[in-house]
Amino acid sequence: MIAEIIAAGSEMLTPHRQDTNSLYLTERLNALGVAVAFKTIVGDNLQHLTDAARIALHRADIVIFSGGLGPTEDDLTREAAAAALGLGLHRDADALTAMYKRFAARRMTMPPNNAKQADLLAGAVVLENKNGSAPGQWLDTTVNGHRKIVILLPGPPKELMPLFVEACEPLLARELPERHFAKRILRIALMPESKVDSLAAPIYKKFADVETTILAHSSEIQLHFLCAKPTLAEAHARVDAVAAKVEDALDEAVFSNNGQTLEEVVLLRLEMRGLTLATAESITGGLISQRLTSIAGSSRTFLGGAIVYSPWLKTKFADVPEALIRKHGTVSEAVTKALAEGIRKQTGASIGLAITGVAGPGDLTDTNGKEKPAGGVYIAIADGRSTESTHKKFAGDRERVRTFAAQQALDLLRHKLI
Ligand code: ATP
Ligand code: MG
Repeated sequence: MIAEIIAAGSEMLTPHRQDTNSLYLTERLNALGVAVAFKTIVGDNLQHLTDAARIALHRADIVIFSGGLGPTEDDLTREAAAAALGLGLHRDADALTAMYKRFAARRMTMPPNNAKQADLLAGAVVLENKNGSAPGQWLDTTVNGHRKIVILLPGPPKELMPLFVEACEPLLARELPERHFAKRILRIALMPESKVDSLAAPIYKKFADVETTILAHSSEIQLHFLCAKPTLAEAHARVDAVAAKVEDALDEAVFSNNGQTLEEVVLLRLEMRGLTLATAESITGGLISQRLTSIAGSSRTFLGGAIVYSPWLKTKFADVPEALIRKHGTVSEAVTKALAEGIRKQTGASIGLAITGVAGPGDLTDTNGKEKPAGGVYIAIADGRSTESTHKKFAGDRERVRTFAAQQALDLLRHKLI
């Protein structure tokens, strides 16, 4: 069965209001195993709403209307649905009584306009709305010999959401085969989306019953595997199988297969090995420390560090020799290595991590008089035995360069701790 959502309301055709109801309904429908094939936003116009309803009834098995069930002139969903279905509307006595009672309970007299909220599509059942005056409607009917489920829901999200979950989901579930969902997410740092996909696609394409989605965040790619089966065990077996194969193909690029963030993985690996960490951040200005300290329990492994933005603080806080800074410039392999070693010694941490670079937008004339290009980043990791360093060049604005730099530093640390 496929569904279509029609969101009624001229305000959602302006830049000021968004149709969030359809997102909510889509999420809930998907969880039941129903795909949303179309959604339409229609202004408060009877002809337009009727047209949209006709089209939806032609192409979808489940048609859900959101909004336009209020008492005012521009609330036209009932009329449009009736016209599209070729059905009459009748004023339901019970629904009307319930509305009078609702107003009476609030010591109010019901305005006459509200009565039209009790108009039901012929054959529809009332979905009682505990949070508002307009009841929802559920109609199980046929159009040109095809079975259609038509649902009318009030627009305010606080009314629509409980009404859908409490009244519609049990009715829908009766119509649908039992299905259980399993999901697995692989997270990959700093690999281009196209490269991830070229390695993963040949594998996940063989799993026709698993839905694969690739999501690109700024410096992270996520592969989502979703599978629905009659039992949870079957669904899990499928997503686990595809995830394991893809993880093999991507090798160590996958930093997490269970939802953990990169910083969580780094902290866990430090802890498993009984190591502590300190950082000396220049270009990232604390972004790395921020990410690490956002994790509960990070104090067990992350000692802290210094934001060494100016050359002289690199010397003061991390013992980087002034002569070295003059000779190589602050954004250099030599100074970054010295920073990593220095912060390690100063703090007594097992590992010192240092990062320098040019965030941009302009290039930098460094302390040694040399031009250093925007986006250039040095990262060094010192463990007392040796100091490794990496040079990277990131494209984009300051925000992007700094985000990627922090991500790269954490990912290098993760690799070192494998
Ligand atoms: P009412 O009795 O409040 O008039 P209604 O069923 O007629 O209810 P609308 O008039 O369409 O619903 O919308 C009422 C309010 O609900 C809107 O002002 C808006 O804030 C919210 N709303 C309506 N549709 C949506 C939607 N699709 N997504 C998010 N919010 C919505
Ligand atoms: Mg309204």
